[in-house]
Amino acid sequence: MKTVDLRSDTVTQPTAAMRDAMARAEVGDDVFGDDPTVNALQERIASMLGKEAALFVPSGTQSNLIAIMSHCGRGDEYIVGQMAHTYRWEAGGAAVLGSVQPQPLEHRADGTLALDDIAAAIKPDDAHFARSRLLCLENTLGGRVLSLAYMADATALVRERGLATHLDGARLFNAATALGVPASEIAQHFDTVSVCFSKGLGAPVGSALCGSKALIPSAHRWRKMLGGGMRQAGVLAAAALHALDHHVARLADDHALAQRLAQGLSGLPNIVVDPPQTNMVFADVQGERAAGLVSHLKSRGVLTTGLYRLRFVTHLDVDAEGVDHAIAAVREYLSA
Ligand SMILES: *Cc1c(COP(=O)(O)O)cnc(C)c1O
Repeated sequence: MKTVDLRSDTVTQPTAAMRDAMARAEVGDDVFGDDPTVNALQERIASMLGKEAALFVPSGTQSNLIAIMSHCGRGDEYIVGQMAHTYRWEAGGAAVLGSVQPQPLEHRADGTLALDDIAAAIKPDDAHFARSRLLCLENTLGGRVLSLAYMADATALVRERGLATHLDGARLFNAATALGVPASEIAQHFDTVSVCFSKGLGAPVGSALCGSKALIPSAHRWRKMLGGGMRQAGVLAAAALHALDHHVARLADDHALAQRLAQGLSGLPNIVVDPPQTNMVFADVQGERAAGLVSHLKSRGVLTTGLYRLRFVTHLDVDAEGVDHAIAAVREYLSA
């Protein structure tokens, strides 16, 4: 039985061409700054995002934590959405390791934080309060895209009040694809941007934190402290460079497959499907049979997750046949 793994775009296997690029990578000790492939990746991603500098790090979680710790000190706070990765899904690292307090806000239905809520959350300079230092946004957020106008308005609002801005752009290139703009048009609104190579871009490991020449040296120090200094990391950077060369334009294919999946599911009984904006399809199943769906799908070779809602993610290793197989397996269960 063929397995279709729709749990996440992190499950992709490095392609043969990517493995080949990794095998051929020129490497050095990156803790000495000697790895030419890491250096090339850092320059490449910084320039793609229109930033002065970048730092290659093992994970998106570490990249976001380094960003928060570079912008904020002990007793500072960052304003963030309730469902943002930097708040909910990173084990509380900013508070635990950075002594930085999160100020979470509810999202509106479209995933944005209301500008009034952001403004009201910025604390006056008073000894009672943590110092509001940073706004963290995320794009895409749960597969949804924040508009360029919203990012411009939200970042302008906090900049006027003296806050810095960070974008968790784990899926920045999905957002750029959906908006039909270069990634730099999104990144321009933020002081720092984190991007993952290990999601839809299909690399096995790695993220980059991009920002100013003034900030990246401090990020470099935090990376060392957090255990993210790597040695011959060029084998990993080569995978990321390969992904930037070959796997950015094809993200549109993932988005088209998500549309195909959503259309196939939305005709079925007892399921309500959100129209996807990128590579993620979220759905709610009504009735008492909802609970058994994920395990039924697994028995049919369709892997998916149902932590908050039923979620299907398309990626490099999913094709139309796999999507149709998933639709058929859902239909079989819901129509029974
Ligand atoms: C995956 C993800 C991260 C963290 O990346 P890891 O490499 O898994 O640590 C951060 N933010 C978002 C939005 C993500 O999807």
